[in-house]
Amino acid sequence: MNSLEVASLTSKIIAGAARLGDHAQEQAQYAQALMEAVTRDESRLPYTDRIAEMPVNKKPFNRDFVRNFPGSTFWPLRKPESVTGITIHHTLSHSPLATARYCTQTKGYPTIQYHAWISAGDGCPVWMLADPAWGLWHDHTGKFQHTISIGMAGSLHLKAPPVEQMEATARLIVHLMGEYSIPIRQVQGHNERYGKNKYGRWRTQCPGWYDVKWRAAFFDVLKGMLKE
Ligand SMILES: [Zn+2]
Repeated sequence: MNSLEVASLTSKIIAGAARLGDHAQEQAQYAQALMEAVTRDESRLPYTDRIAEMPVNKKPFNRDFVRNFPGSTFWPLRKPESVTGITIHHTLSHSPLATARYCTQTKGYPTIQYHAWISAGDGCPVWMLADPAWGLWHDHTGKFQHTISIGMAGSLHLKAPPVEQMEATARLIVHLMGEYSIPIRQVQGHNERYGKNKYGRWRTQCPGWYDVKWRAAFFDVLKGMLKE
């Protein structure tokens, strides 16, 4: 139930109770307080839901997807308790819409490959682009994913993200860690999830934090927020 539905239902309760007398008036006050609490919590969420704006591909043609999920038109659904980690990516792009089109039209995925997106400027808004119930596997950890993929906008192997973007990302991560009971050791980069090749090199440089050395700064921000 979203806050609009809660507001609509509680205002009906309040209106109905007001016609019933003193005791009901008291109940109405509780309902009012509940509505305010729910609305306040929703407005405190560290992201804006933009899932409905993202294009989807009802006929995914990605080879891995077709092989792993024959006949399926969507990412596999998972339960909240099967989410055990967070994977950090850099997106290279600054447009979620362009990335969503690339993922659906060129890569042949059903949706964009990031659950959340953290912009690099203009206050660094955070957007939820895909439902965490969808097991996206951009971090290559297997066909059934157990992590939430978050994308920090930019080419972060060339230039470290601004502090503001790190803070917005950390705020989202603190929220998700609480929501899904994720320990900090399970907050990892795409490179750490994907591992090293036989030559001892990371299989991917994503999210770029070893290239221009911003991993330590990022975890300082995150750990600082967790202490608050
Ligand atoms: Zn990545």
